[in-house]
Amino acid sequence: MIRQTIFLASLLFLAACGGGTTDSTSTPDAPAADAPASVSIPQPGIGAIAYTGAEIWDGTGSALQQGMVLVARDGRIEGLMADVPAGAEIVDLSGRFIVPGFVNAHGHVSGRWADDSVRDATSRVRGDLELYARYGVTTILSLGGAPAETLAIRDAQASPSLAHARVFVAGQVVAGNTADQASAVALANLENGVDWLKLRVDDNLGTGTKMPWAAVQVAMNAAKASEVPVATHIFYMEDAYRLLNMGTGLIAHSVRDREVSDEFVQAMLDTGVCYVPTLVREVSTFVYAERPDWFDDPFFLEAAKQSEIDRVSQAEFRAQVAASPTAAGYRNALGQAQDNLRILVGSGVPIAFGTDSGPAGRFPGYFEHMEFDLMAEAGLTSREILMSATSVAAQCLDLDDVGTLEAGKWADFVVLRENPINDIRAARSIDAVYIAGNSVARN
Ligand SMILES: [Zn+2]
Repeated sequence: MIRQTIFLASLLFLAACGGGTTDSTSTPDAPAADAPASVSIPQPGIGAIAYTGAEIWDGTGSALQQGMVLVARDGRIEGLMADVPAGAEIVDLSGRFIVPGFVNAHGHVSGRWADDSVRDATSRVRGDLELYARYGVTTILSLGGAPAETLAIRDAQASPSLAHARVFVAGQVVAGNTADQASAVALANLENGVDWLKLRVDDNLGTGTKMPWAAVQVAMNAAKASEVPVATHIFYMEDAYRLLNMGTGLIAHSVRDREVSDEFVQAMLDTGVCYVPTLVREVSTFVYAERPDWFDDPFFLEAAKQSEIDRVSQAEFRAQVAASPTAAGYRNALGQAQDNLRILVGSGVPIAFGTDSGPAGRFPGYFEHMEFDLMAEAGLTSREILMSATSVAAQCLDLDDVGTLEAGKWADFVVLRENPINDIRAARSIDAVYIAGNSVARN
């Protein structure tokens, strides 16, 4: 079973620490096996912690900074300072690189990825969030289908003891065939206190029925009345364009049917709405016809769920994917999506990093690094990719306290062994991940 373990940053660097404590956000009904170990650890966040020696890229657009100290207190950043404040505990990160934790504007938290021995729904959801975190993904907008328990996890995450990724939720995806159906789902989500509403306007390459526009309008109206933004799943440019005019707050997938027109690009710029590529989602639809190369990648294997590897490796499953007409269509769509991404970036449209990871076959954490590669392949620079995955994604989701390493924000950051600014592959050289200043368990 994957234990939820917080190591205080200070203790981590002192010695091999034999104990830990469960996250204070544990629910009262957590199994007894999760009870705190009998080792005394001071409360995290008491006093300042100074992370020294690393080169820091703060996500604001500034260049790498040398000789600065990242100072955190009570889980939040006090600032990048020239000196270590008196009395601060020091975490020596000499020779390392610090970047803000990655923000995924389109993931799915389901509990699917927890160890099979984990039974209760809350712990299973946290298993997903721990998996994202160990790969440097420290904030996720779960765009549909998260278990109800996720809301309580979200409500408890503004805590200096947090040690898993932050999550924001959209509730059940709105995709009804009638306005009444769409309205019922939208209102139930809004009643539950979702952060976003997610609408699905797609026909699966002509194999399904697209949500009628009257239903889209009703859901949009409900969201507007509750002042909740709407994220929209699209495939076709025409639908994305229409949704921009109807007031969508996020284009949650790439336009994949054709090259984006000047008119569409202008509408993106005029509305200021962000665009989430989710390129790796396309890969997941066709790649399992054969054994993917990355099944030999140590970076994948260090946390990959074996039962899911086994499932997608079955001969029957491979044959199914190979024979799927939509899989072939989505393979073509990937190239179109990459071409469009290049055009949109060149036009100055804000690109919010997002992957659509989390559902079956879409391995959380590792898929985010595959998305980086696909963005680079599309022509984005490493710096553009990092901006998209930090401050830009945070701004697109209207999250004020993550995305950069500025005073007042949560101390969510990734420590890398290699410099990612000129080579995004270096984002894989993860030495440690911190959330609210707490080192995330990586084993
Ligand atoms: Zn999705």
